[in-house]
Amino acid sequence: MHAHPGRLLFGGITFGEGQEYLSFQYRFLIVVLIAGALATAVFLLGESTRLNRIDSPHVVSMAVFTTVSLLLWGVLRGRPAAVRPVAWLYLGICQLEYLSALVHVPQDEMRALWFLTNVPGVYLLLGRRTGAVVTALTVVGLAWINPQLSAPYSPNALATLLVGIVYQAIFFHVYSARSISYLQQVHGLNRQLHDLAARDPLTGLLNARAYYAGCEQALAAAACEGHPSTVLFVDLDHFKRINDTRGHAAGDEVLRRVAACLREQVRHSDWVGRIGGEEFSLLLPRTATAQALPLAERLRVCLEALQIEIDGQPIPVTASIGVATAQAGEHTMTTLQQQADEAMYQAKAGGRNRVSVLATSAAPPTSGAGLGPAAMGAHAAAQLPIC
Ligand code: GH3
Ligand code: MG
Ligand code: MG
Repeated sequence: MHAHPGRLLFGGITFGEGQEYLSFQYRFLIVVLIAGALATAVFLLGESTRLNRIDSPHVVSMAVFTTVSLLLWGVLRGRPAAVRPVAWLYLGICQLEYLSALVHVPQDEMRALWFLTNVPGVYLLLGRRTGAVVTALTVVGLAWINPQLSAPYSPNALATLLVGIVYQAIFFHVYSARSISYLQQVHGLNRQLHDLAARDPLTGLLNARAYYAGCEQALAAAACEGHPSTVLFVDLDHFKRINDTRGHAAGDEVLRRVAACLREQVRHSDWVGRIGGEEFSLLLPRTATAQALPLAERLRVCLEALQIEIDGQPIPVTASIGVATAQAGEHTMTTLQQQADEAMYQAKAGGRNRVSVLATSAAPPTSGAGLGPAAMGAHAAAQLPIC
């Protein structure tokens, strides 16, 4: 099997949502580390073949720079959290290498340009404040050291260089502010969009698509750990009558209040969705029927006790609740929901305003006030899913 070149270079790291900038910095720094090491190796090759004469202290400096660059790549590869410390270390060895060229390679009139190449990298990897500070220190440092060099730059050449560095810094200062704030804005809008696509606007609960998608994963995770999970399917009783007699707006208000009641009663780890007009579903991961029943009963009582008044007239609300449990790995969310649906219809048939259970062999019969007859259907435990 061939190793992908990108995987070799970057260590096959994957980044999550919201980590786009870190992903860019990680890859950018690795490319800069490798490119810098290769470029310096070319200079060293030129020296060793006598094509290019360089003073020996700078040859040592280049060899150290190349080695440390490759070591830093080794440290960073596979560890995106190390981007900042590695970027700082790399900045340090770059500045030393450029300083060495400035002092030891006087025959190269262009050597001070190396300082200019640093500016974009510092802005992109270490941020605007560090970029501004490093630029200021570089400008002051170059102005200070130039008269002490064996071959100093003319005042005009020095001014050109320093103005060039400052220009470069200003461009990147503005660019990084713009691009980062744009990125943050896109992230915010993306989150809003995500939320809009996942939520039912009337109740704020998850819509059917988002609910089932989340539940499928939660169900699989619970199954992997060997836990059963239970679905409670809540269907309001004679809801159409409310619409017909009190108006659609009153019906909407009832749906909002029902949603709030469901949300209040469940645990943080439970899933609540509005999967139809007056139909709500709850997934209780890692919960067997015996633990789910008291909650189902609490929900029934909470809904019955809702005091909704529109135009001074109370609106009575009750619900039929179907309960179905999957032993670990036994069902998909779709089949579990179908069973809860079946149980809910039994609650309707039993007179409404009640809880009905479609149980597996492990489930106890119904219990508690208002519970309807349980329809017991034993399901052979299937194999655990691959976790
Ligand atoms: P049952 O006890 O058998 O469940 O009777 P039901 O009247 O609750 O059931 P049915 O399915 O006949 O009626 C559901 C009603 O829910 C019909 C539909 O107009 C209403 N509905 C669906 N979505 C909304 C909504 O967003 N707002 C309002 N106000 N009503 C809605
Ligand atoms: Mg219905
Ligand atoms: Mg109904």
